[in-house]
Amino acid sequence: MSAIELSVVIPVFDEEAGLPALFERLYPALDSLGLRYEVIFVDDGSRDRSAQVLREQFARRADVTRVVLLAANFGQHMAILAAFERSRGGTVVTLDADLQNPPEEIGKLLEAIRAGHDYVGSYRHEREDSAFRRIASRMINSLRERTTDIRMTDHGCMLRAYARGVVDAINQSRETNAFVPALAYTFARRPTEIEVAHAPRAAGESKYSLYRLIQLNFDLMTGFSAKPLQIYSLFGMLVSVGSIATYVIVLGKRLLEGDSFGRAIAVIWDRDILQFLLIGVTLFGIGLLGEYVSRIIEQVRGRPRYLVRAVIERDPPA
Ligand code: UDP
Ligand code: MG
Repeated sequence: MSAIELSVVIPVFDEEAGLPALFERLYPALDSLGLRYEVIFVDDGSRDRSAQVLREQFARRADVTRVVLLAANFGQHMAILAAFERSRGGTVVTLDADLQNPPEEIGKLLEAIRAGHDYVGSYRHEREDSAFRRIASRMINSLRERTTDIRMTDHGCMLRAYARGVVDAINQSRETNAFVPALAYTFARRPTEIEVAHAPRAAGESKYSLYRLIQLNFDLMTGFSAKPLQIYSLFGMLVSVGSIATYVIVLGKRLLEGDSFGRAIAVIWDRDILQFLLIGVTLFGIGLLGEYVSRIIEQVRGRPRYLVRAVIERDPPA
């Protein structure tokens, strides 16, 4: 039997209303690709009948379907990780369960993988979400673009393909607040992006409240950048330097006005300037502390320290 070429990973949280429509389009789309594939559904602690619906689908297409039921709601990205660890395909594609990403586009992603890319991102052509979501996303995308080294047009679009090597690297990471597309990007050697269609949700409602969106984007920023901290301590440094300059200026002015050095130097105790200096030093100190903390975070995250592309050597003697 040939190896599985494609794993399709779909996180499911309270999607019972939309699942039948998903099955109806997903399986024909995958069958038509003419390759060996598996679909891994992860039920992320749904409170509705999603898990039952998935079991029934498993019974119908046990040849290619696998279902992972999580014990509680751990969030979309954790659900995806649960599937990644179990995936067997040479390429792994993630997809939302709500049909906002058309399953018919999977072939396009695979083409890019075959062309030699190990990570294929996507951005949404004519995004079909509320104006509020679109504006919020645009702001968050530009913030992420400026604070991290991750270059993608639209990190919110989950229709993406990952080569085996990238999935393995993600599986080795031990962090608890992973944002899958961004993590993958940091491990990818030849990332690319393609445009995909986007549709309104087939059924049910978005699982993201404003609060959860903000939370997710903090994950993204703190997970991939120490820049906010660095800006903070830079600001502290500027304030310190500013206060020292003020000292020098005031001292010079007093000397020019004929004060003796002994008297003029008393400017050191000028309360306003001193306060200015101490605030600067404190801010810098907090930023410095942050640098240490960010190193602790890095250690705790346990991402692979390096990835080997190949080792060129003679086979060890038998
Ligand atoms: N999802 C999940 N766990 C959650 C929230 C969402 O598995 O805690 C799934 C959800 O079922 C869907 C996908 O993640 O398949 C994207 O969620 P949603 O469509 O609600 O997000 P939006 O499109 O509004 O960004
Ligand atoms: Mg959606």
